[in-house]
Amino acid sequence: MFTDATHVMSSRRRLVVLGSTGSIGTNCLDVVDHLGDRLEVLGLSAHSSGETLLQQARRYRPRWVALTDPEAARRFDASQLPDGCRLLTGADAVAEMVQDSEVDVVVTAIVGAAGLLGTWAALEAGKTVAVANKETLVLAGALVTELAARRGGKLLPVDSEHSAIFQAMQGSPPEAVERIVLTGSGGPFRGRSRAELEDVTVEEALNHPTWRMGPKITIDSATLMNKALEVIEARWLFALPPERIEVIVHPESVIHSFVEFKDGSVLAQLSPPDMRLPIQYALTYPERVAGPARRLNWRELSAWHFEQPDHETFPALQLGYEVARRGGTCGAVLNAANEAAVERFLRGDLDFLDITRACRAALDHHQYSPTPTLAELSDSDRWARQEVGRWNNRTTRTTTIK
Ligand code: MG
Repeated sequence: MFTDATHVMSSRRRLVVLGSTGSIGTNCLDVVDHLGDRLEVLGLSAHSSGETLLQQARRYRPRWVALTDPEAARRFDASQLPDGCRLLTGADAVAEMVQDSEVDVVVTAIVGAAGLLGTWAALEAGKTVAVANKETLVLAGALVTELAARRGGKLLPVDSEHSAIFQAMQGSPPEAVERIVLTGSGGPFRGRSRAELEDVTVEEALNHPTWRMGPKITIDSATLMNKALEVIEARWLFALPPERIEVIVHPESVIHSFVEFKDGSVLAQLSPPDMRLPIQYALTYPERVAGPARRLNWRELSAWHFEQPDHETFPALQLGYEVARRGGTCGAVLNAANEAAVERFLRGDLDFLDITRACRAALDHHQYSPTPTLAELSDSDRWARQEVGRWNNRTTRTTTIK
């Protein structure tokens, strides 16, 4: 659908935004505000933020809004919706929106494993999916990429690093790539020793130096689990083995990743840390148009810095490589264990360093399967959440269930 440039120029792309009230969702709608002649919102979904969803419905006048939390849906006053906009609820609400024949692009901005359902439904219908939910690929990368290939769907990266790689690879065949290098800011605890992280508070971990994001990904950035998940995400998006995916710390977050080609050339994509740019690129691909993203100020640039990641302080990164190598059920276990551990940390129920320890324990004790079905991945996900729910770093584990 993207090969006919004149067609793209003359018609607006019709979007469904899953997770429209979160950080990526609101940035996406900001892009729509600036590119209203190219983008049209057909559907919006939120989990429980009914009030924000209603405001968005009034502004963007979609055909459908969906609330996935049954309690929030019960409380929602659908009579307040603008004319022509319908509230969808229940298990099939998201699938109904994303599979509509008039939808061109589905933006999956739901946080966590909950994002899989919408991505799956969209790919089954052969849609283009702008993937802002890396957990979907971590959890079920093999099945998701296979489904996309089988149904003629497309996966376009929104994660800034993966968008950078995708942009740098334009015009080059995949076999010309020698390696990719994901950059990461290093998070709020860059330069600290492991001992210094024993007592960090939730507030300190939520204070990211360069990116403003939701709480889950901000904690993932502080543990470097975010980079671990991104290694796995890259493994599936670009079909590269983990030994050809590297990570380098770049505190300024201006260079969003590198691609090294067989001939030794390295291409990178640069821009200020602003998610609206990778979102816009996915929505207007392959075109580039003026949009809302901030620009580099060339007069203020002086130096960019790089350092190797500190694997001792941030062992999460190695978990990412291990999971990218082993595949199978490992991605579902790491992702679910991490989500459960981050929730416990945010509640004050686990220490910061326990997040990665709990993930390590879940990976060590899970029953591995190399080629799981979607149902088996769902079982692994559930098992890992329960395992982390009862995990305690002060007592010895006594149970191994499943
Ligand atoms: Mg990223």
